Amino acid sequence: MEIDNNENQSVDNENDLSVPVIPIEHPNEEKELTLAEYKPGKALYKSVLPGILQVPADLILAMSRKSSLWPMTFGLACCAIEMIASYMAHYDLDRFGSVPWPSPRQSDVMIVAGTVTKKMAPAVRRLYEQMPNPKWVISMGACATNGGPYTRYDRVLQGVDKVVPVDVYVPGCPPRPEALLDSFLVLQEQIMEDRKAAGK
Ligand code: SF4
Repeated sequence: MEIDNNENQSVDNENDLSVPVIPIEHPNEEKELTLAEYKPGKALYKSVLPGILQVPADLILAMSRKSSLWPMTFGLACCAIEMIASYMAHYDLDRFGSVPWPSPRQSDVMIVAGTVTKKMAPAVRRLYEQMPNPKWVISMGACATNGGPYTRYDRVLQGVDKVVPVDVYVPGCPPRPEALLDSFLVLQEQIMEDRKAAGK
């Protein structure tokens, strides 16, 4: 008696649930469903998806962080006018992915722009603590850095780094918007460097 091999194969496949059943009437599909050939020493996804880029996840995170720095919007004195000018059309800080944000809850950069009085210092500290991690601080101008013209004033804090950790200091009285833009570039480099240091 003659045995139909194809019919026999279909019956075997139906009984064995671990073997995927490929309908033989669609040879093109059968060809496409053939498992990719595995070459030792080469990742399988490189055969299946040629041209795919493989990068560490922490690099993607660091690039995302540095390209979406959201500074909290508050100003303490005359330096704040220069900070506001940096957000305007001429200097356009937004092109760095920087979005001024009116809440510490979603901000990740604090720009201390102006004189920090001892009365204001606890509020600056509280705002810093309300920001989520990771977060960075830019001390903008001589006043925020070391008291500036008010070094002999007892009621002025002689440097905001006494209440919050500062990452970038911007010199000047007041610093120009270009200097603040430069501090963002420095902060971006620092974020990439921190990522390398964390990988050691
Ligand atoms: S550094 Fe100069 S411009 Fe800035 S807040 Fe102090 S006095 Fe004003």
